[in-house]
Amino acid sequence: MQPIKKSSKLNHASYDILGIIPERARQMEAQGERIIKLNIGNPAAFGFTASDEILQGMIHNLTAASGYCEPQGLLSARQAIAQYARKKNISHVNLEDIYIGNGVSELILLATQALLEDDDEVLVPAPDYPLWTAAVALAGGVARHYICDEQADWLPDLADIKARISNRTRAIVIINPNNPTGALYPDDLLQGIIEIARQNNLVIFADEIYDKILYDAAQHTSIASLADDVLFVTFNGVSKSYRAAGFRAGWMILSGNTAHAHDYIHGINMLTSMRLCANVPAQFGIQTALNGQQSIHALTMPTGRLKQQRDLAWKLLTDIPGISCFKPKSALYLFPRLDPNYYPVANDEQFALDLLLEEKVLIVQGSGFNWVQPDHFRIVFLPNSDDLTEAIGRIAQFLERYRIR
Ligand code: PLP
Repeated sequence: MQPIKKSSKLNHASYDILGIIPERARQMEAQGERIIKLNIGNPAAFGFTASDEILQGMIHNLTAASGYCEPQGLLSARQAIAQYARKKNISHVNLEDIYIGNGVSELILLATQALLEDDDEVLVPAPDYPLWTAAVALAGGVARHYICDEQADWLPDLADIKARISNRTRAIVIINPNNPTGALYPDDLLQGIIEIARQNNLVIFADEIYDKILYDAAQHTSIASLADDVLFVTFNGVSKSYRAAGFRAGWMILSGNTAHAHDYIHGINMLTSMRLCANVPAQFGIQTALNGQQSIHALTMPTGRLKQQRDLAWKLLTDIPGISCFKPKSALYLFPRLDPNYYPVANDEQFALDLLLEEKVLIVQGSGFNWVQPDHFRIVFLPNSDDLTEAIGRIAQFLERYRIR
């Protein structure tokens, strides 16, 4: 019998955040081992659960939520999202420009499927949130990775972006605030990206899911607020900002030059209808979330738990010889660099596996974020201070042995 094989469309898609090594960690846990898991940005798993107001809003509406709603999403939720768009200075957003999905993840897949022909190209950052690269590949396209420069606070290199444009380039992805680096983009850089999109007729996909997780009084600008002659698709949701990743509720907003994108919008509408609608109970949480004060933002204030954990994790990591790390301005992650003179890592997946097996700490290797050199890894700083201290202490012990191998 012929073996049943997976589609070759998956050849360029990977998702190491929940890949082979996390699966190995799961098996070790099943055998009774205690693993400190620093691999995934799931706030609720670390005690950052959704607020009572959001839960009550959902519970109260459960009966009404038992049927399908409109494909683009509940009207009340979209009204709240439209108001949020206005607060972020994104102009002319109507209810029909808003699409609610089962998390931003579903909408990333949908927006790329609706746009790309086979071999069309999309500019994606390196490092990236790997679903973007995978989604482009699944849609038949090719991700062209542009460099974010660690020496320049991980900001995208505009010259590198320009150099990667071809006559097949259809869109550019920007992740701001950034996962995995914690970078936050200044307005002049955003203007530079808009100018490139303008000159090359590119759609701008702006993933802004961490826009409320900002440290040290940093401010976030939605790129879509800076122009109206380019097509923007802005992604956001309740997973991180409202500590409700399990609800699977996210949205995307079309703005800017929608007039010249009727055909693309028709495609988006078709795909949106085909999956009927997103999970309705969770949509009832969106209005309560966006109209309330329950976001994660308070925890990023100077005495907030998240800010303190960021500072602690950053200090402990950068005290290890041969490790350097940009101090994140946003989001939930650290993306440290291993100096190859100290730690000559040849294969960063093997490095992450050895760390798991020897020290029971689960990280994600840099290549999982489409970072080519085997010299970075990512940790989340959501665990409490004791667990972070223990985990980074174990990483330090592992590195000390690694250095003299
Ligand atoms: N975009 C980025 C940059 C993320 O980090 C994540 C999750 O970690 C997502 C999208 C997916 O979010 P959702 O839970 O809304 O599917």
